[in-house]
Amino acid sequence: MLIKTDPETFKTYFEDSSNLKGGHAEGAVFPQDIDELSNFLNDNYPKKTPVTISAGGTGTAGARIPFGGYLISMERFNNVIDISKANRQATVQAGLLVEDLKNAAEKNGLFYASHPTERTAFVGGTVATNASGSRSFKYGPTRKYIKRLKMVLSDGEILEVRRGEIFLRRGDSTLKLESGRQINIPLPDYKMPDIKNSAGYFAKDGMDLIDLFIGQEGTLSVIAEIELELVEKPSKILSAFVFFREERDSWNFAEEAKRLSRSIPSKDGFTPDALSIEYFDHNALRLLSAKDRNVPKDMNAAIFFEQGVTGEDNEDRLTEAWLKLISRYSASLDDTWVAMNEREARRFTELRHAVPETINDIVKRSGFQKLSTDIAVPDDKFGRMMNFYVDTFKKERVEHVIFGHIGESHVHVNILPKSKEELAKTKDIAFEFVNKGVSLGGTVSAEHGIGKTKHRYLEEMYGKAGILEMARIKKSLDPNCILGLDNIFPKEILSLI
Ligand SMILES: Cc1cc2nc3c(=O)[nH]c(=O)nc-3n(C[C@H](O)[C@H](O)[C@H](O)COP(=O)(O)OP(=O)(O)OC[C@H]3O[C@@H](n4cnc5c(N)ncnc54)[C@H](O)[C@@H]3O)c2cc1C
Repeated sequence: MLIKTDPETFKTYFEDSSNLKGGHAEGAVFPQDIDELSNFLNDNYPKKTPVTISAGGTGTAGARIPFGGYLISMERFNNVIDISKANRQATVQAGLLVEDLKNAAEKNGLFYASHPTERTAFVGGTVATNASGSRSFKYGPTRKYIKRLKMVLSDGEILEVRRGEIFLRRGDSTLKLESGRQINIPLPDYKMPDIKNSAGYFAKDGMDLIDLFIGQEGTLSVIAEIELELVEKPSKILSAFVFFREERDSWNFAEEAKRLSRSIPSKDGFTPDALSIEYFDHNALRLLSAKDRNVPKDMNAAIFFEQGVTGEDNEDRLTEAWLKLISRYSASLDDTWVAMNEREARRFTELRHAVPETINDIVKRSGFQKLSTDIAVPDDKFGRMMNFYVDTFKKERVEHVIFGHIGESHVHVNILPKSKEELAKTKDIAFEFVNKGVSLGGTVSAEHGIGKTKHRYLEEMYGKAGILEMARIKKSLDPNCILGLDNIFPKEILSLI
């Protein structure tokens, strides 16, 4: 197996899009198959050397960055093992690029529904963070599509879990491994909010065991192989950018588009049924106008939406339904861009993706760690959350950008401090948002995970007791405390239990 020990040759693995500094490791391991992976972990187990799993490195919370020990790169696990159009499913290795999965699926008239917008992520990375994407408005997060995981535990034992086979219940949560070892997984008492959520371990009485490993951020096992469900690709995707003079009009438009998409179709069957509903505030539009001079300069918000058209749908009548909605919300049709062909649709999705990319470039140039929130709240609380963001930024004049998945009551707030003096203030602002989101029954991470940079946010959500419960789960599956240390909670907590 390829093992590198000169850090100069693997220092690129010490970063991701969090801009967290100080990563280091004594070695990097590049297994080619599950046996190599298992043997490495088995040899390492008695030595207790920490191991951090690295995938595409697009994560936003420093989770793949090692602070000591070894890193395992999954990049050689990059094959599609099987894809079946008839069964709408694929089996892939964890290091496959999301882009490659997307292409393989599309060749079969299918697609990967969770659609993370960053295509250089690995499929295993998206499972380990329970990623979502713009289209999770219609399809839901990664979790929903994972049917089977083949994994290696920290002592090298291989564990295969198929959805629907093993359930964990309070008082009955013993996992029997092939080796005969039995693990009692302590089910915690904390209650997850019933919304899009990737904050800490999934835990619920009666839960499917597979759900514990989705969103675990590399702390419980190394995922090697994934069987996932694909969905039928609409024959066409209509997409549009709608620009608004007033931010609040864009929120109301999104709210109505969402209500209609979730409702029973009208008698004629032509009610908007969005795949995605995405938001851009005035600062996001300023970033976009630097990329595309056609972005109107006098507008203060935009909504990007996609609508799938299937065989029987009448494209013209669906377009008409959307245009009717647009004209009701004071958005001028002159200020609406509708993609007329695939090339334009691609340009729109690239433009949408340019917002987080540009923010990450700004963060990198600033030298500061990324300061962003990933809060989702229940739908009926979203207006209050948005008002809180806007009112706070009226008082605290710091550079910021708000964009994202408004259809799921989930926007990303990025705060961009300009100096060290401003940094402390911006951290306080982010924490105020977290506090508000939690008080409204929300989650501190709807899709990015906690990693190494958001421990304080998770504690705000679940309290110290909840964090200790998570540590107990980790210790049951990784008793020597080897995998993904400092992800989700500080490693020091492990010595308290
Ligand atoms: C421009 C941009 C846009 C983005 N847009 C979105 C978006 O729309 N939705 C969204 O959800 N995220 C988004 N992200 C964040 C990121 O793409 C996701 O979090 C993604 O799932 C990370 O995948 P990765 O392969 O890069 O993982 P990494 O960053 O390498 O790792 C992430 C975590 O997963 C663990 N891990 C990775 N592979 C395995 C494995 N095989 N077994 C066990 N643990 C593993 C790592 O240890 C780490 O804890 C965006 C990022 C960027 C830069």
